[in-house]
Amino acid sequence: MIPNPHENLLTIDTHVDIPWPDGPSPFVDGPRCVDLPKLKAGGIAGVCFVAYVPQGPRDDAGHLAANARARSMLDDIAAMAPADGSGGVLAPTADKIEAAFAAGRTAIIPAIENGYALGKNLGALDDFAARGVRYITLTHNGHNEIADAAIPRRDLKDVEAEHGGLSPFGRDVIARMNELGILVDISHAAKTSMMQAAALSRVPVIATHSCMRALCEHPRNLDDEQLDILKATGGLVQVTMVSNFLRPKARAAELTVADIADHIDYAVRRIGVEHVGIGTDFDGGGGVSDFMNAAQAPNLTAELFRRGYDRAAVAQIWGGNFLRVLRQAEAARI
Ligand SMILES: [Zn+2]
Repeated sequence: MIPNPHENLLTIDTHVDIPWPDGPSPFVDGPRCVDLPKLKAGGIAGVCFVAYVPQGPRDDAGHLAANARARSMLDDIAAMAPADGSGGVLAPTADKIEAAFAAGRTAIIPAIENGYALGKNLGALDDFAARGVRYITLTHNGHNEIADAAIPRRDLKDVEAEHGGLSPFGRDVIARMNELGILVDISHAAKTSMMQAAALSRVPVIATHSCMRALCEHPRNLDDEQLDILKATGGLVQVTMVSNFLRPKARAAELTVADIADHIDYAVRRIGVEHVGIGTDFDGGGGVSDFMNAAQAPNLTAELFRRGYDRAAVAQIWGGNFLRVLRQAEAARI
């Protein structure tokens, strides 16, 4: 029998979507890329499940609907950790993630994709923090009240650059996120927004699901200057598996874990292994031919070992770095 490369390895996938409002159960091995049985099979210890809010109209009705959607999705994420112990464990702190791992239980870490969920209401952050939300992606595709996005939405009448990066409200949002221990996720943000956020935030910022622009020219990917500021500020890039971020115009079936490892290698050489991780974007567009669901995660790990990463480096990439930054956010809480 081939030994499981994840044995005794605390692995965290930092970006996974959930079906909403309806969808296959997370408790049975079904059509989702990520469900609790597949996480067990793949030896994935913890997952950041996101309440994804697509950008919509920036009026009161749009903001109310976005906030309601985020709260409903966070309810669904919490429901993956039922009180009777039959599922995962809600684990919104580094200590709780480690405790869940020690107990052999899947750690469920709530997050929000798109600060549109706040609308213009800073107070919404307190509600999200109380629900255990550990990061908020500042934008999705399309500018919002917080910041400019890497990909403007022409259908929403976005100009190329609306705020020139962060808005004054966006700066207040980041300050309050720091106070509440919520990490700033800069995936999807425009470069201007990202650079300003990295410089402003008291806690290192992270890209929970992004790839390297040097390897694949795509507005969603991070260039070398962005990687360098992540290193300088202690942040992280969590390499993702969306096919056209990995290779220009590629389809998932044409790609393998080697393509993901190429991006990991590039980031490690540029900024060091302590600033690199993995966020699959499963059930939100992520997946390559030999890593199409969480049960196949050991294929990527085996590729990293094949390329010469030792166990300590793999442990950093698969979760150690993310836990370190989570703890920094917890220590900076006011
Ligand atoms: Zn995304």
